[in-house]
Amino acid sequence: MINEKMANVAANNSAVREMFEEGNRLKALYGPENVFDFSLGNPYFPAPDSVKTAVFDILNTMDPNTVHGYMPNDGFPAVRQTIAEYINNRFGDNITGDNLIMTVGAAGGMNIIFKTLLNPGDEVIVPAPYFLEYDRYVENYGGVLVPVSSPEETGFMPDPAAIAAAITPRTKAMIINNPNNPTGVVYPPAVIEALAAVLEAKQKEYGTSIYLISDEPYRELAFDGAEVAYLPKYYRNTIVGYSWSKSLSLPGERIGYLEIPSRIDDYELVRAAASISGRILGFVNAPALFQLVVQRCVNESCDIDAYDRNRKLLYEGLTELGYTCAKPEGAFYLWLKSPVADEKAFVQEAKKHNILFVPGASFRCPGYVRVAYCVSPETIKGSMKGFAAMAETYGLKK
Ligand code: PLP
Repeated sequence: MINEKMANVAANNSAVREMFEEGNRLKALYGPENVFDFSLGNPYFPAPDSVKTAVFDILNTMDPNTVHGYMPNDGFPAVRQTIAEYINNRFGDNITGDNLIMTVGAAGGMNIIFKTLLNPGDEVIVPAPYFLEYDRYVENYGGVLVPVSSPEETGFMPDPAAIAAAITPRTKAMIINNPNNPTGVVYPPAVIEALAAVLEAKQKEYGTSIYLISDEPYRELAFDGAEVAYLPKYYRNTIVGYSWSKSLSLPGERIGYLEIPSRIDDYELVRAAASISGRILGFVNAPALFQLVVQRCVNESCDIDAYDRNRKLLYEGLTELGYTCAKPEGAFYLWLKSPVADEKAFVQEAKKHNILFVPGASFRCPGYVRVAYCVSPETIKGSMKGFAAMAETYGLKK
């Protein structure tokens, strides 16, 4: 028998992946242009040309032993210094390259930090709905994820009072994912301030350190001028996990960083242990070529306006048809209220129109579905006929 926990995980493999496979099946049957697959957060708009230029430039001009060789586990010092300076200029911080560890995407960074921080039984708070892989990342190290519901009435903002009530002497960390997957909501600075005040008060009450883990793969994807707060400015014990998977459309290249500011509690210990964690988890170091690429592209991003146009197309199309959605301000997800209580029935109904999206239960929040609009504009336009037919079925149009 294999590891029992993994046998369970394999048996309950993510609904998002199942959707992906269902999408491929439908595309083979009906042709890809007739299937409207909103299930995966895989960017449609490509990396900017500067990424390709950087790749060729690095390969043509740099020593191959540098480009492809082993390096310090934390990543190339010059790459980390460039990124630190970029962070300081942008957010008015004063970190150095020593505060950064290059990681294998946001997922790699989260695993490094949980391996570093968690003792078995330690609790990690997360506002729900949330990205379900957090369950696994925390479980990997014997931690216990503690979801706290964000109320529908506040537009799915984290609830400071409920979070305060969930914190115990075993709380080691809280995850904030802003802009949020799956809701597409951006938490305003006032909400972050309220959460920081709760964490400060609870640290004092219990005499513990509670680390705020800011999972930021969607930082650059904010619309209508929504401000994405830089959490280290709000709360001293903040550790940031960033990734270029979405901002540069590079999810397959696996590149991100962890920012561990010197002012956090037990900095020296956390920093040293995080460095070793990455190595012994088997990452060893982040991909060398793409460390060098992001160094050259630190000011670049994918076509964010194109996502904004998609957002408007989808949001306006759906609300005109009578659907209700959380106000989409960031990431590339729209959080759509199911017209029937059981959102899984809505998912099944949508499949009849070759429309695929993910049930809210997959993010610990039934009653909603997640529509990922990192797709072609044609996919959104083509899906409207099916959405209109379902609006009729459910009597949404008055
Ligand atoms: N965190 C959230 C909230 C995500 O949505 C994702 C990917 O979709 C990740 C982390 C993992 O990102 P990466 O591909 O950079 O590891």
